[in-house]
Amino acid sequence: MVLCDTGYVCDVCGTDVEAITESDLYLRYIMGEVHPLDLPKQRERHIRCNPVMAQYIVDSVFEPVVCDGAFAKINLDAEYVKQQEMLVTRAWRRLQEIPKLGLTIPEYPLPEVIVRWNKYDPEA
Ligand SMILES: [Zn+2]
Repeated sequence: MVLCDTGYVCDVCGTDVEAITESDLYLRYIMGEVHPLDLPKQRERHIRCNPVMAQYIVDSVFEPVVCDGAFAKINLDAEYVKQQEMLVTRAWRRLQEIPKLGLTIPEYPLPEVIVRWNKYDPEA
């Protein structure tokens, strides 16, 4: 557990996000959607409270989440959905391993994300 003792309250349902493995914020960080510098500024959410993202997690141990509306994957391009499923599921599996890996926060993201951020220059 890397989050501090005061706990982080889910922006959607209002209960604590008790473990990093259920954190939508850290899932998006691992995927490269949240920049390291933005991590402390963003609101916390449960993965299951963000169906737009959670619908792409395809794993036998993850009970599928259904997203309705314009961002439901049945309404989106099949190729895009396939890529998202691969990416989000990979990131989710990595998130589940994080408590066992003994990494520092900068080491959490997927390898290609770390490469991208190492090249990132805010002045450019
Ligand atoms: Zn929640």
